[in-house]
Amino acid sequence: MEIKNTKFMKGIRGTDEILLDDVPQTAFVGRSNVGKSSVINALTNNKSLAKVGKKPGKTTEINFFLINSTFYIVDLPGYGYAQASLKEKQKLKNLIVWYLTYSEAKPKAVVLVLDVKAGLTEFDKEMLMVLTEEEHPCVIAVNKIDKMKQGEVTEVVYSIKKEYPKAHVMTCSTKTGKGIAALRARLFA
Ligand code: GDP
Repeated sequence: MEIKNTKFMKGIRGTDEILLDDVPQTAFVGRSNVGKSSVINALTNNKSLAKVGKKPGKTTEINFFLINSTFYIVDLPGYGYAQASLKEKQKLKNLIVWYLTYSEAKPKAVVLVLDVKAGLTEFDKEMLMVLTEEEHPCVIAVNKIDKMKQGEVTEVVYSIKKEYPKAHVMTCSTKTGKGIAALRARLFA
C-alpha cells in the first residue's frame, strides 16, 4: 500500500472516544530504544511522524496517527527507559497492558519491535503472553539487523520461532531499509 498521508491525531492516557470510532488500528509496542519510532517512520515514509531519539522516557501517552485517512497506527509508550524510576516504568506498563487488555481497542495487529542484539527480554515475553491471552494477531519485528551477520540474525529468528511457533517473525533495519517493504505489505496490504 502506498502511504499518501499521515496525521497525528492525539495522545491518550486512558479511555477516549478515539478507541470507539471504528477506524482499524495497528499497534506498535517495544522496549525503549529498540527503534520502534524509526520503524513507524520508515513504514509511513515520514521521517518525523514518531519522534526518533526523542528524550527517552518522555512519551508517556498512547499516540494515534491516522494513515491515508483510513487506519490508525497506535504507538504505545516505549517501556523500560533505564533512567525512569521503577514506579514510572510500572505506570507505563500498566498503560500498555490497559490498552491491550481492558480498553475497548481491538487492534487488527500488534507489532512487537525488538532489537536483534537484545533478543526477547522479560518485557517482550510478558507482552507476548498478554497478546496470546487476548488473542491479538501479533507480528514480531526484529529490528537493527544491520548490526549482525545474516547467519546470526537467522539464529535469533530461529530461536524466537522455536519459543513462539505461532508468532509471525519478520526482520528489518531502518538504517538500510531492508525488510521494511515486506513489513509494510504484511501490515497494511
Ligand atoms: P524507540 O525508543 O524504540 O522509539 O527507538 P528510536 O526509533 O528512537 O531509535 C533508537 C535509536 O536506535 C536511534 O539512535 C536510532 O537511530 C537507532 N536505530 C533505529 N533503528 C535502527 C536500525 O535499524 N539500525 C541501527 N543500527 N540503529 C537503529
